[in-house]
Amino acid sequence: MTKNIEYTGFEVGPIRPPSEAESLLIRVSRNCPWNKCRFCGLYKGTSFSIRPKEHILKDIDLVKQCVDMIKDYKSSMADDKKKNLDEFTDNLGESGMWAYQSAIMWIRSGMKSVFIQDANSMVIKADDMVDILNYLREVFPNIERITTYARSHTIARMDENDLKRIADAGLNRIHIGMESGCDKVLQLVEKGVVKEQHIVAGQKVMKSGIDLSEYYMPGLGGLEYLEENAIESADALNQINPDFIRIRTLAVPKKTLLHEDYENGVFKRTTDVDMVRELLIFIKNLDGINSTVKSDHILNLITEVEGKLPEDKEKMVSALEKFLSLGEEDQMIYRIGRRMGIMNKLFHVENESKRIRIKEIIEKNNINLGNIDAVTDSLIKQFI
Ligand code: SF4
Repeated sequence: MTKNIEYTGFEVGPIRPPSEAESLLIRVSRNCPWNKCRFCGLYKGTSFSIRPKEHILKDIDLVKQCVDMIKDYKSSMADDKKKNLDEFTDNLGESGMWAYQSAIMWIRSGMKSVFIQDANSMVIKADDMVDILNYLREVFPNIERITTYARSHTIARMDENDLKRIADAGLNRIHIGMESGCDKVLQLVEKGVVKEQHIVAGQKVMKSGIDLSEYYMPGLGGLEYLEENAIESADALNQINPDFIRIRTLAVPKKTLLHEDYENGVFKRTTDVDMVRELLIFIKNLDGINSTVKSDHILNLITEVEGKLPEDKEKMVSALEKFLSLGEEDQMIYRIGRRMGIMNKLFHVENESKRIRIKEIIEKNNINLGNIDAVTDSLIKQFI
């Protein structure tokens, strides 16, 4: 599976979690080895490969060189240092400039964290991961956090000792796209994993001492499995007790297979309001755990679904109930407000100046209860 033996330069993959916006991105593999999830169009048409360890170490060296050159110039802003930096960047080439841009952004954010890409980094050999982590920490001793994405399917099959060695080498957090803990939904969207594997993988990560961030996707079961998706997902998470539960509301972009399912009538999409109902059932069913719930994605409607369990559960429940108790017109005002970036807290729905602005938009664009779902759908597209 390891391809492209020649080093072709520094690489950056397409995504990282929102919480890793300030992290240096180090790509150990390209794309997704599964690539079949029907709701995900991110890697469609691409093939998976693992980058040779030596190439990743070269990427790290290149970032280090860039960081040193930039810092050297910034320390004095002297003309000769500027000349050195210009000469250095002139010889970097296109991919080297990616490393240079990465270094600039990383310096700006304090060089505290690294995110290892792409979709399932834990699929590489444990020995290689340990070497990469050790090297990162040797070259940049002040790094505070190294995190990555992984699939439950991969972690469930991993040797616990390997996971522990990786933890000891300094991997601090794994982000797992659980999406759902409901087998029917997992099968429907071809997630390639069952609830039990999610639980086994999650428990293994927690046991290894690596922080675990699990993603839950309201709406993924459509209308048909709305309640089951919420209850089964909460049940899986209750058995894992991850450090973080991150809410990632479903979107159905045209490039996904789920969109085809929707057009063919196989998948019955939920509206914003349905997804709030689902989220309410989900939060109510989280029990006996002390995870932190995060709502750090732009697609999430109710940003107040954030807090530490169990103490903030009631606060989250009240926010969701408050939205559901609004009249249809106020729900519409909030939905448009949130999707247009005018409102991002529920209490904004009572803010007179924001209301006037949104009502003008509603009137000008002929938005009404009959077309609000289509309107919010097209507004969401700007974020996906
Ligand atoms: S495992 Fe993740 S990246 Fe791969 S297809 Fe599924 S959602 Fe997309």
